[in-house]
Amino acid sequence: MGKLKNLKKSAKAFAEARRLLPGGVNSPVRAFTVVDANPLFIAAAKGSKIYDIDGNEYIDYVGSWGPMILGHAHPKVLKAISAAAKKGTSFGAPTLAETQLARRIIAAFDSIEMVRLVNSGTEAVMTALRLARAYTKKDLIIKMAGCYHGHSDSLLVAAGSALAETGTPASAGVPNSFAKLTIVIPYNDIDAAKAAFQFIRRSAPVRRSEPVRRSESEDGSEDGSEGGSHKNKIAAVILEPVAANMGVVPPLPGYLEALRNLCDTEESLLIFDEVITGFRLALGGAQQLLGVKADITCLGKIIGGGLPAAAVGGRADIMALLAPIGPVYQAGTLSGNPLATAAANATLDILEKKNCYEKLETTSALLQIGLTGAAKDAGIPLTINRIGSIMSCFFTDRPVRNFADVQSTDIKQFKRFFAEMLKQGIYLAPSAYEAMFVSLAHTKQDIEKTINAAKTAFHKITN
Ligand SMILES: *Cc1c(COP(=O)(O)O)cnc(C)c1O
Repeated sequence: MGKLKNLKKSAKAFAEARRLLPGGVNSPVRAFTVVDANPLFIAAAKGSKIYDIDGNEYIDYVGSWGPMILGHAHPKVLKAISAAAKKGTSFGAPTLAETQLARRIIAAFDSIEMVRLVNSGTEAVMTALRLARAYTKKDLIIKMAGCYHGHSDSLLVAAGSALAETGTPASAGVPNSFAKLTIVIPYNDIDAAKAAFQFIRRSAPVRRSEPVRRSESEDGSEDGSEGGSHKNKIAAVILEPVAANMGVVPPLPGYLEALRNLCDTEESLLIFDEVITGFRLALGGAQQLLGVKADITCLGKIIGGGLPAAAVGGRADIMALLAPIGPVYQAGTLSGNPLATAAANATLDILEKKNCYEKLETTSALLQIGLTGAAKDAGIPLTINRIGSIMSCFFTDRPVRNFADVQSTDIKQFKRFFAEMLKQGIYLAPSAYEAMFVSLAHTKQDIEKTINAAKTAFHKITN
């Protein structure tokens, strides 16, 4: 413990990768840019541990950014994947495993009556927005600052995750006209949501840069006209019901209920992006835990069981708009892939068993209590937000309830904490804006080791 790791092979591999892949990575946050370090190249992972190519072992709290709720390389998941692989890796035709997975998603979520399987969370959200716009015949979307919904054009507007940290308000290459269709308001602020609806109602009609939809020219209504049920122009409000891409920020009591009511009154759809929280906080996600139903739900991460799979689901009347039975186009060569559905079904087999979520809660609470105590002993102001098995350590003495709060925390201290933990074999997300993920594979000993490492780290930070 405490000795500097040899990271020579990772450093060399990164230098080579940077010549061939932009930034040396295939997803930005992996580059460790925001913690001023070189990324570890990973050779393998098992249970709660991850191993780099220099042969160092770490207790892993990244969990591939959420999917690995069972821990890495779970024998039952591996067995299911290899059994499926032997029968062929992709058919581009329906399989029984897809229906099985759909049935279980529908059983887990009260608000989901039909589901479409896709390959990534980004795709799930893209499809959710297209469905909402088709269903409501409106164009605008409200999103919350600090919530991340993947990298599609309409949602890279003051997005969270890695983008927020590099201080870019949106991505280059996103047309202004797309960004204009998205209204960004603070999370956990119901007055801001009401004000956004008011503002849109009062402001000049929103010009559509796309062709006017057929239905609209048929019924004769024009942009800006207040006829029919078009009370406003907002198709949907989308959010992570428990924000987890600006660090973990749970909703304030009553916030989700109030958004639900607002959407009902305004005839806009409520989309919950449960790509992190689905099957993580409970089988039925944040919706089950907090008792508020979405019209459309996006799932990902855990439902791929560590392979690329995601889903969009919702009320049958909305989902029935999807091709081939409806006019909303969506498709995917590898959607419902046999390996991914096998991994997903095997993962859900385990999660559906008794006590999984209780166990995750117990382990995670232990970690929270230990870290809180360690920080206090060292005299370091620390706010830990935790819900179930996701949590964040914010270096501040104030509560953290939205993105502005997150941005006011001490990022320098986080960076030092991250580096000191890594040296001691604790692999945290290389960003103050990402969650810690606890898995079913984390043991009491893992938690004790982590807390001890944090004690050392906190003392180093103060000195
Ligand atoms: C990760 C994530 C996404 C994007 O999913 P990908 O599979 O990376 O495209 C969308 N929404 C939320 C809440 C996420 O955490």
